[in-house]
Amino acid sequence: MTYVVLMGGPGAGKGTQAKILCKKLGLPQIATGDLFRENLRENTELGQLARTYMNGGDLVPDEVTVGMVKERLSRPDCANGALLDGFPRTISQADALETLLAEMDERVHIVPYIHVNPDLLLQRLAGRWTCSACGRVYHVLFNPPKQDGICDLDGSALYQRDDDTAETQKHRIAVYFKQTAPLLDYYKNKGLLVEINGEQSIEQVQKELLQVIKESDRQRTD
Ligand SMILES: [Zn+2]
Repeated sequence: MTYVVLMGGPGAGKGTQAKILCKKLGLPQIATGDLFRENLRENTELGQLARTYMNGGDLVPDEVTVGMVKERLSRPDCANGALLDGFPRTISQADALETLLAEMDERVHIVPYIHVNPDLLLQRLAGRWTCSACGRVYHVLFNPPKQDGICDLDGSALYQRDDDTAETQKHRIAVYFKQTAPLLDYYKNKGLLVEINGEQSIEQVQKELLQVIKESDRQRTD
């Protein structure tokens, strides 16, 4: 059994890494965003419950999210464990996860945290520019247009969508660090947190993630 909680801020590459890791480890990737979409689409009891909160403009309470995770973990593809991506987000969710796993005689085994400095996250997230005519998206660092501010395809002006501005992304990053700081401490105190330098290549980050997870598996089976 391997239960991994993967952590990392917006722009840290967590989703990409999670996908590759799950393939290599043969574990399902459990992301609460996917679970919500699935429960809403299939109109499950939990989906219906979530919808009543969402329609009222309210936050969906933890019990609903945790219920979805619990149901997901009971499926056959979780026979060898799972990789949780983006859950838990708060200490109360982490406590709920611990309780839920304890009922299965299990626990979280390792919490790799892909760390990237906020300044670099901002560069990654706020560098997107979109063509006003064809909608093509560029990135000032990773996929720049040949000429500043001009679309390669049709010569139209590029603009920044509201979601992509430095202001919006700065706020998003600040919220992430503020919200997750207590959770990082929580897992650090339990001896489960392993920090990975996320400012390296995707391949190097992947290699180190695999290493720490396999090492934790080995320690338990020895
Ligand atoms: Zn264009």
